[in-house]
Amino acid sequence: MTSVSLTWPSGRVDQVPALWLRDNCPCSDCRIDATSEHRFIVSSVEATIEPTSVTTADDAVVVDWGDHTSTYTTAWLADIEKQIARTFPAMERWHGADIVRASYEDLVADPTIENDLLDAFCRLGAVVISDTPRESGWSETLYRRWGPPTEVPFARIHDVYVDPAGYNVAHTSEALPPHNDFASKRNRPSGQILHMLTNEATDGDSIVVDGLHIIDQLSESDVDVLATVPASFRQFSDTAETWGRSSVIQRDESGTPIGLRFSNQLLQASDPWHPRATEWYAAYHRLASLIVDPANQTHFRLNSGDLLMVHGHRMLHGRTAFNPATGVRHLQDIYFDFDDVANELHRRQQIASPR
Ligand SMILES: [Zn+2]
Repeated sequence: MTSVSLTWPSGRVDQVPALWLRDNCPCSDCRIDATSEHRFIVSSVEATIEPTSVTTADDAVVVDWGDHTSTYTTAWLADIEKQIARTFPAMERWHGADIVRASYEDLVADPTIENDLLDAFCRLGAVVISDTPRESGWSETLYRRWGPPTEVPFARIHDVYVDPAGYNVAHTSEALPPHNDFASKRNRPSGQILHMLTNEATDGDSIVVDGLHIIDQLSESDVDVLATVPASFRQFSDTAETWGRSSVIQRDESGTPIGLRFSNQLLQASDPWHPRATEWYAAYHRLASLIVDPANQTHFRLNSGDLLMVHGHRMLHGRTAFNPATGVRHLQDIYFDFDDVANELHRRQQIASPR
């Protein structure tokens, strides 16, 4: 009996591996009661463990393992079904529609508006909060409602304005093709806030591009070569160095694309002798063509006090060129871990409607 048949609270009747069942014993010997963490570790029994008996009572399944008895209550099995079913919010494709906005005043006054905005952010990958305080560093104050910001090289809060001494193209008035930040770090931040403190310049519209919508338009073979052959990226200053080599498309364990690593400005020369170099460049050409195609871009203006929040791996962001002679344009970037926002939303939803 290396697998055991169980009837679940949802009505499902199915076999589970015996070792799985032993590992999920809820008793006080096998778990730390206060935290529900595992104390039992699978290596303490044989991998081929089998129950000596399985008894179904009214409100529990009792399994005798010979040296241990496990009681799986209906409530525990229901909790396990919830654990198995838990996912991050589904990422909905998004392009062409207006970006979801909320005002800061409404957000702080009404937790429902705040949670709805977090929900839209998790599903769509980009939202704008308008009418925020135009104070330097304020984006960090806002973000700390949901989690800790991520420290990155250069500075935790990046000032972006025209600066002849700047270390990248963001510090010019040139157009910035859509990109994700820190493509040059293999373990790059998965969330980003762009807080527009002052925008008095003509033009310089903001652009966002849903990377998943772009990947949807590529052939399977293009996706495969871009997800398999690594590219390298570098961003550096006089005081900091970031360099990393990784694929341009990321896929999850099931092979589903979940993000892009695209930064025209940071791309380094790739290995031209790689066996798939020609194939990679043809796919990269199609990828770049889709990213710069206005049909795949959403343009909007970030006014003074507007704050754009993006999923750092999924959404690309950029801007059109502007004329610095027409006025000041100054924004600040901070970075964070997307998972922290998604999990904070989950925590709030659990409090609002437990089970
Ligand atoms: Zn136990």
